[in-house]
Amino acid sequence: MTPESIDSLTQFHAANIVYILVLFYAQNMFRAFTERDFFKKHAYIDSLTRVANRHQIDVWLEERLEAAEDGRAFSIIFFDIDLFKKVNDDFGHKIGDCVLKELSAIVSGNLTDGDLFGRWGGEEFILITDNTGGQAYEKAEHFRKMVENHCFKGAGSLTASFGVTDYQSGDNIDSLLNRADEGLYVSKNSGRNKVTVN
Ligand code: GH3
Ligand code: MG
Ligand code: MG
Repeated sequence: MTPESIDSLTQFHAANIVYILVLFYAQNMFRAFTERDFFKKHAYIDSLTRVANRHQIDVWLEERLEAAEDGRAFSIIFFDIDLFKKVNDDFGHKIGDCVLKELSAIVSGNLTDGDLFGRWGGEEFILITDNTGGQAYEKAEHFRKMVENHCFKGAGSLTASFGVTDYQSGDNIDSLLNRADEGLYVSKNSGRNKVTVN
């Protein structure tokens, strides 16, 4: 072999190694970005119902509280399935899970612009809406009736109780949720399947 051909062979191999290293690096970068996106997305989604989870709701509430200080009012509708323990006891945990999924799908499919919906935990859900006052009450009534009139696979008829509250100046997440929870508590204690504005 001539010194020239040894040189070009060395260059060829060196270029190949560089090419493989770049490819390897790019592939790892791509995988890292994809995984980061996957985990980021799943950190905000409830794994059972596929709706927003508590973490996402907290972020939304922070954002909405900030916007409310600049004049964009909102309200929250907090609701809880009535006697859900009995669903699990009578039909089993799997049917209970299906009810949670079905209810999440029904509500998600009937949201309007500006509505944000998620599972707060267990059989409790939250809807954040631009509607306030009487309109927020009507919206909660709409969903209450929707649940009441739905036949859940394997479980049949169910109801839910609602607590509704408007944003008030000076609110933080706790004060807002406490007021909605108090409304929900009144609904539960006055026979369930009710909407209470607090
Ligand atoms: P109330 O009308 O007062 O709300 O009565 P309830 O039975 O709905 O309330 P309680 O707090 O006594 O029971 C809630 C039940 O929800 C108990 C718990 O096992 C069940 N639950 C919570 N998370 C899940 C879940 O992810 N899947 C299933 N299948 N059940 C769940
Ligand atoms: Mg509950
Ligand atoms: Mg309940």
